[in-house]
Amino acid sequence: DKGLAKTKESVFQKMTRAVVGKTRVDDDVLDSLEEVLITSDVGVDTTLRIIERIEERVAKDKYVGTGELNVILREEIAALLAENEEDIEGDFEFPVDKKPYVIMVVGVNGVGKTTTIGKLAHKFKASGKKVILGAADTFRAAAIEQLEIWANRVDVPLVKQKMGSDPASVAYDTLASAKTKDADVVIIDTAGRLHNKVNLMNELTKVKKVMQKVVPDAPHEIMLVLDGSTGQNAFEQAKQFTKATEVTSLAITKLDGTAKGGVVIGVSDQLKVPVKYIGIGEGIDDLQVFNRKEFVDSLFG
Ligand code: GDP
Repeated sequence: DKGLAKTKESVFQKMTRAVVGKTRVDDDVLDSLEEVLITSDVGVDTTLRIIERIEERVAKDKYVGTGELNVILREEIAALLAENEEDIEGDFEFPVDKKPYVIMVVGVNGVGKTTTIGKLAHKFKASGKKVILGAADTFRAAAIEQLEIWANRVDVPLVKQKMGSDPASVAYDTLASAKTKDADVVIIDTAGRLHNKVNLMNELTKVKKVMQKVVPDAPHEIMLVLDGSTGQNAFEQAKQFTKATEVTSLAITKLDGTAKGGVVIGVSDQLKVPVKYIGIGEGIDDLQVFNRKEFVDSLFG
């Protein structure tokens, strides 16, 4: 598929280039590999972890040809991802015993939060679920409007108030409406203003508390949306958000048009949070359930 193909070319080609003319995995090769991983946005800490694991295997197996490096790297990346991925069956599903299932979506402006919510609503609806959206990013008029455009496009109800109104109040209304309408799933958009961390934390905490007046164990999922094309920025945002609230899943967008799919590997390793969805385009169907095996396969062919 279009998105991952480009990622694959990049990491794989860079690695191939790095081992050209070499027959075995030595320090030189490991240094080059380290550079490849870092320039692929895997992040320094995760890169070092991977290199360490490869070093251990090279030391143990004595002779490791560069031809085997692909296989080893692939296994190590899969193992890293496996630490944080609950096995999702490859479908857009959620626990049906939680009704409504409440997803609170966080992330800074521009990462693709609205688009991801729209695509997700579409997938859930297509699988026969009753969906309601809540526009609790009340800070920007554009955020409410954009979400409304998606709600109309997908044809699901949206609960909104005026710009500047209390996000917690919007969240409350949305859950109340979901109960009345017997909805299966609620997706709540929130504002992500990182420049004021204390405010962000207070706001998200308040939204959660107020939600719990309607659905005591809400939110069931706090999804952080990150732009996979922004490399180091995505790591920084991820760190900030995980300090502000308890992020339980990741959606990584814009993995089409970028050579930086490494973010997927690094960020779940660093945060210990599973990647659940990936965005691979601007269209309504350009959202996939993250599949570890497919992803690793796409990196190494
Ligand atoms: P928000 O401010 O975080 O809500 O961001 P939006 O959802 O408005 O998206 C910002 C821009 O990114 C829009 O132009 C989207 O079409 C685009 N976008 C979102 N997801 C993807 C994706 O997976 N791939 C690409 N290429 N563009 C995306």
